[in-house]
Amino acid sequence: MTTESLFIDGKWRSSDGGQVITVISPASEVEVGVAADATDEDVEAAVHAARSAFDDGRWTRVPMSDRAAVVLKAAELLESRIGEIASLVTAEMGAPTSVASATATRSVDTMRFLADLAVTTKLRDVRFDGGPTAVVREPVGVVASIAPWNGPFGMAVTKIVTPILAGCTVVFKPAPETPLDVAFLVDALSEAGLPDGVLNVVTGGVSTGQALVASSGVDKVSFTGSTAAGRLIGAVCGSDLKRVQLELGGKSAAIVLDDADLDLVRTGISNGCFFNSGQVCVALSRVLVPRGMHDEVVDALVHAASGWKIGDPGDSSTTLGPLVSRRQLERVEAYVQAGIDEGATLAAGGKRPAGFEKGWFFEPTVFANATNSMRIAREEIFGPVVTVIPYDTEEEAISMANDSDYGLHGAVFTRDLDRATQVAASIRTGTFSVNNFVYNNRAPFGGVKASGIGRDTGREGFESFFELKTINLAPGMEALYTD
Ligand code: NAD
Repeated sequence: MTTESLFIDGKWRSSDGGQVITVISPASEVEVGVAADATDEDVEAAVHAARSAFDDGRWTRVPMSDRAAVVLKAAELLESRIGEIASLVTAEMGAPTSVASATATRSVDTMRFLADLAVTTKLRDVRFDGGPTAVVREPVGVVASIAPWNGPFGMAVTKIVTPILAGCTVVFKPAPETPLDVAFLVDALSEAGLPDGVLNVVTGGVSTGQALVASSGVDKVSFTGSTAAGRLIGAVCGSDLKRVQLELGGKSAAIVLDDADLDLVRTGISNGCFFNSGQVCVALSRVLVPRGMHDEVVDALVHAASGWKIGDPGDSSTTLGPLVSRRQLERVEAYVQAGIDEGATLAAGGKRPAGFEKGWFFEPTVFANATNSMRIAREEIFGPVVTVIPYDTEEEAISMANDSDYGLHGAVFTRDLDRATQVAASIRTGTFSVNNFVYNNRAPFGGVKASGIGRDTGREGFESFFELKTINLAPGMEALYTD
């Protein structure tokens, strides 16, 4: 197995420090691979490569259409490797192969979407208010992109391809649980003609991430991960005046109104809570239901929970794989105990499934009769656990949904689309779904409150990788800035 997982200035290499991180299969607990644990010196080498590549203009001066062509070529190269990418993601983090494969396919489509977006983005315009002025979009510079493990390949695509298309150079740090799959993207972009130094990868854990965030050669940090880490990173960026984008945790509420279609509730919330074993930032992990419908909704969710097939994630019939790590399993177990201790009713699941001696599997779990003050209603569990809370009035439901430190996602289930519109307008979140559970990575995505700052994905996510420069023009220059 190779430890050459650092990609710096166009070359794969191992760490000068010689330390490694070991990747363990969450399903079998067998070693899947190793990666370099990058030292501060490795990180500085990667930032230096990215800085030089940005400053000498080898990529910023490449026309947008040529940058897009590199990405489209890379997408074409990746098309034939979807199966390999999916197998590696399944091995690294335990996502069922059907999920990993659909996600890899969608990620390659996203590359094409981003390339199209890039070539249709207006990079300059001329204005005449207060005198002739050109407003020009310029790439923000060297971007440190830091990712979690829960959707690693798709995350790498978003966090690498978006800034690169904007003309930035990038140092990417994947999560230590999933350091391997990004190599497919790196190799495809390199083969497609991305110049050396434009994309660099450092693998490692928290200290590698800290060194990257602190590096003086970085202009912007694009971070996706926990709120706790986001606060620390935001503080460093605030002090250094680095641009920062934080996509953090959530505790999203689904409000079931009294006229809801129960079939939509069952499928929407089951997917919203149990997909990817609940390791989803937008999980609809709090469900607010009219008191009179509480038992009926709980029964529907218990029934839905029993429909997930737990098993070897490499088996195509498996729909629910393991949690990513022993640490994550212990965290989920501790939250289940907290729910029981605080008086919620455990209606389904709550334990490791019988017959799984190896692997960090956990049953889909439903808590009923909970209150919004319990820890299982306030804290992000990041496991297959849904907390059902009864309410008496719609106003109370809206107030409970907003009574959260987080503001990432939310949902309403109702047959009355006017009521849906009113509820959507009353909830303080960055995204919201009506009668379903959706993550649309072609629209702006992000949160308010402790769920983050800024927007990833979509046109707005792309535009966040530019600085605006205002050029006050001398007479006669307008034509030079008009496309
Ligand atoms: P994490 O915060 O522990 O780690 C995320 C990444 O940041 C990893 O690569 C880690 O090594 C690195 N890191 C951790 N501390 C750091 C620090 N102080 N400085 C620099 N880098 C640091 O999160 P995780 O456990 O990997 O992922 C789960 C979390 O991610 C959940 O809270 C989930 O909600 C969140 N998440 C958010 C979104 C979103 O778009 N809002 C998407 C996916 C996951």
